[in-house]
Amino acid sequence: MSTRITQVNVWHATGEVSRGATIIIRDGVFVLGGAEPDEAFEHDIDGDGRWLIPGLIDSHMHIWGVRSSNPANWVVDPLGIRPFRAVADLEKVLRAGFTTVREAGGVMGPSIRDAIEEGAILGPRVVPAYLGLSSTGGHGDCHSLPIEWVRDRPYMATVCDGTTEIRKAVRTVLREGGEWVKVWASGAIALSDNDAPDQLHFSVDELRVLCEEAHALGLRVGAHVEFPSAIEACLEAGIDVIEHGFILDETTISSILEHDVPIVTTMALLRRYLRWVGPEITEAQREMARELLPRIMDSARRAHEAGVMLAMGSDSFAEPLTPFGANAEEMLALSEAGIPVEDCLRAATINGAKVMGREQQLGSIEEGKLGDCVLLGRISPLDDLMQVADPENIALVIKGGVPVAGHSMA
Ligand SMILES: [Zn+2]
Repeated sequence: MSTRITQVNVWHATGEVSRGATIIIRDGVFVLGGAEPDEAFEHDIDGDGRWLIPGLIDSHMHIWGVRSSNPANWVVDPLGIRPFRAVADLEKVLRAGFTTVREAGGVMGPSIRDAIEEGAILGPRVVPAYLGLSSTGGHGDCHSLPIEWVRDRPYMATVCDGTTEIRKAVRTVLREGGEWVKVWASGAIALSDNDAPDQLHFSVDELRVLCEEAHALGLRVGAHVEFPSAIEACLEAGIDVIEHGFILDETTISSILEHDVPIVTTMALLRRYLRWVGPEITEAQREMARELLPRIMDSARRAHEAGVMLAMGSDSFAEPLTPFGANAEEMLALSEAGIPVEDCLRAATINGAKVMGREQQLGSIEEGKLGDCVLLGRISPLDDLMQVADPENIALVIKGGVPVAGHSMA
């Protein structure tokens, strides 16, 4: 099965740009050497001077199938409705050009991944964490709910304390099909009624055991962590990816570089809090986001300038607060923070692949990589990020060489 796209300008995510190129995807992978004599193409697409970029990667989102950001509604929702909503959410994400998503803590991740892989439903490649790890009272433990509700119906986290429970929770991630370990290592700025971003929720010793166990099983560790002191503790313990990493001082940036750990930024989420009118976000939370957002954007810019690798995460988890399909807003937030457009595109492609350790297969248009790409309009995304960020401009989404979404399929 082969697909050919002719007459395209290609941003490869390698530093290379090709003009008027022909791209071939044979048996699901890019073949840049040209067609075989008499090769027949199942999909022969006239690119017509449009731009082609690698399939986008959202490095931090959740697949929960919920329609409220209030945890009380999550536990009273019938369990059966969630997968159906999640399927609808993931279709929107795919239509927006995201061919891979890293699920950052959710019970459904592995099952949805498998359903997509077997072709039962349409969606991006899912790289799930399965249930993340939270301490009792930590950010993944819903404080506003009765404790037995959270324990009996885990949707995002396994609540665990002490090294024995931590080891068991990590092993369970592997058993249930998770591909990385998510830990809520600290509290958070928003959506938290009972925790704060400068609180470390596991001891360094606990985090060290968590990393040791995960690494022994071949799993990377991504830590929800937002403020410098907690970030330092996570680096010391050996985590592999900083999720959010909102506030960074110079010492923290140096430590991050020293440990060679990437940050998955999630700034667009805070912008949504500012725009949101409704009971889901309290005035105090909105005020905190308003005060911190300029510092957060400044932190991302300084980290980028110092050479820290940034990947983008939408942190989408519940419509309507975080609309699925608007994932690329995080690229716009990075741009607004002062990060050059090409690096914003890298954050949504090759850097996402590196965060997952999948850069041999994903994240760029290169010989032998999986044939995931997105056909845009005729204006270069390097000149205007909206060419990528506005789903209206997504002409065709190709996953593994197969056209799966986009307005030119209508
Ligand atoms: Zn998240």
